[in-house]
Amino acid sequence: MSGELFKVTHTKIEAFRRCRKQYWFGYVSGLVWPAPGDPPAAIVGNGVHRAMQKLCDTGEPKDGWAELDAYLRMPKHAVAGPGTEGWALAFACYERGIEAHRAIVSEARWAELESWAPSKRLGITVRAKADRVDRLGPDRWQVVDWKTGRFDLDDVVDRQLDLVHLIVRTVRKLPRAATVRAVGWNLRTGEQRVRELTRDDARATMEYLGGMAQRMQAETEFLATPGVHCAFCNWRDRCEEAARVESEGLDWLEWDDGVEGLGADGVRGPA
Ligand code: SF4
Repeated sequence: MSGELFKVTHTKIEAFRRCRKQYWFGYVSGLVWPAPGDPPAAIVGNGVHRAMQKLCDTGEPKDGWAELDAYLRMPKHAVAGPGTEGWALAFACYERGIEAHRAIVSEARWAELESWAPSKRLGITVRAKADRVDRLGPDRWQVVDWKTGRFDLDDVVDRQLDLVHLIVRTVRKLPRAATVRAVGWNLRTGEQRVRELTRDDARATMEYLGGMAQRMQAETEFLATPGVHCAFCNWRDRCEEAARVESEGLDWLEWDDGVEGLGADGVRGPA
């Protein structure tokens, strides 16, 4: 193993789990990442996160309002600008965010706490950002990841919370006795996904990530796994497998291998 630690992030691991080819495009190929699009949902999410950061910084709702307003009025964000559904949704989420902020009683708080947790033994360095961290008491902490989507996938949220927990525990060097309430807090639906986490959980997370890093570094095939997630893949335009599944659908099931013929629906198969 070289001296350099293998970087691990939530996005990187999820790409590897979802589709090896997507992972290859993003982290192995060396290709320049396509510029991400700016769909309304992403603009709303970014705007609300920025507003929540300002709110956490000062505790003044007006600071978050001003940030969200200015962000959504940027010409680049016109699809979620004044008068649009996105605009209304963003401010509704922020209203919920203000309620959430008021409901959290803490001794100290930090917005957008970003850091890394290196492990020479495992050969990895884990990087993550916590949207909000609160010290609720001497050995009691809370970390929040704000969500603004229509729904969240529980298992994905859980893995993300485990990573931010690891970061908080490392950066703040929390003692063994400290417990952390990790929350995926959806400001659109009001739902909270809560995990109560300990130092042993952090250790288990680190071991899991070390194991995943080994598999990721040993991977050589990078097989594509086309699915509904292709609709959100930045590499979709360059992916033959996704295009093939889209054009052929299940018709190929009617074909004999290598023999041209007509399927049950009259579609001609390959020569
Ligand atoms: S378009 Fe789909 S199959 Fe292709 S790389 Fe992206 S996620 Fe994988």
